[in-house]
Amino acid sequence: MAENKRDYYEVLGVKKNATDEELKKAYRKLAKQNHPDLNPGDKAAEARFKEINEAYEVLSDKDKRAKYDQFGFAGVDPNFGAGGAGGGFGGFGGFDMGDLFGSFFGGSGFGGFGGGGGASRTGPAKGSTVRTSLTLTLEEAAFGCEKDVNIQHVEACDVCGGTGCEPGTTAEICPECHGSGQVRVQQRTVFGTMSTSTVCPNCRGEGKIIHQKCKACGGSGGVRRQKKVHIKVPAGIDNGQAISVRGQGDMGRNGGPAGDLIVGINVMPHARLRREGSHIYLDQAVSVYQAAMGGEIEIPSLDGKIKCKVEPGTQPGTTLRLRGKGVPVLNGRGRGDQYVTIRVEIPRNLNEAQKEALRKFAETMGEVPPSASEEGESKSVFHRRKKK
Ligand SMILES: [Zn+2]
Ligand SMILES: [Zn+2]
Repeated sequence: MAENKRDYYEVLGVKKNATDEELKKAYRKLAKQNHPDLNPGDKAAEARFKEINEAYEVLSDKDKRAKYDQFGFAGVDPNFGAGGAGGGFGGFGGFDMGDLFGSFFGGSGFGGFGGGGGASRTGPAKGSTVRTSLTLTLEEAAFGCEKDVNIQHVEACDVCGGTGCEPGTTAEICPECHGSGQVRVQQRTVFGTMSTSTVCPNCRGEGKIIHQKCKACGGSGGVRRQKKVHIKVPAGIDNGQAISVRGQGDMGRNGGPAGDLIVGINVMPHARLRREGSHIYLDQAVSVYQAAMGGEIEIPSLDGKIKCKVEPGTQPGTTLRLRGKGVPVLNGRGRGDQYVTIRVEIPRNLNEAQKEALRKFAETMGEVPPSASEEGESKSVFHRRKKK
């Protein structure tokens, strides 16, 4: 269920600091290679095509690119994909087919592909992807959880059932294009007569004409609604990853399936614990006494407060490894470890009794207490000054 999305730069095969020109070049090359019309029936190419478009949609926008660079998928405006739902092209999140073909084929020679290019406009098309984000605690991300998210998506109008026609009426198949949404035009050029297909002007590519538009949806067949979607967050998910929920995006066009919902995951920083992959890191202070004598201390962990054994004579900076106390492996087995780095707190502002105790302790260690000799030194300096 969880989807590890590929990094947008990786998708386009460019470096993080790629210029707009480099992005555009990489995008055009890849989009052309994987275009559904040139790879009919190839689902993998179609998926790559969408991935490429999504990556380019974000990286070609200065603002979105900056957010993506900073926050990953979760930083990209949650609803940027939803805009394409109402108007424009159904299948590719607001992506405009005209631009694509214009740039690839220079507007001519298009007829050579059998006019198949724009036909998908009237065929079934998958609905647009809807994006949102979900903020979790470290524990929720580590162990998984179930959450409801509120999203805005386009659903079939319940007055007309998605047809866009006023109840009791039906749409007419466009007499100009016979429902294909495309008409062929003969053009005389210096190379001879060329046949090109273009969007039918009568129905504007819809293939049908609605005489009486449904009043509830204005003839679009879809209405934007708020919806609560129940999300099962898998254990081990990390900040910047995303969960894809099938069929919870915008409604499809002409009987196509609904788009997907992509939920970007934000994980709030924990007050004490730090996560790296499936391991957890903790800095833990102990007293000089605890470090020297050893014993059991209580420390925070993903499982709440747990006991941790400190060996006598533990040195500052010592790292203890608690096996299996880390984060469960996403879609895998077992858990990472927790690493506890020991800091030793040196007491400040000792009172007289404590100082005396420490001096005694130092003497037992065969040490001349430095405080005593320092005091002596400062006294002699004081005396010398007084003499002058
Ligand atoms: Zn309607
Ligand atoms: Zn038509």
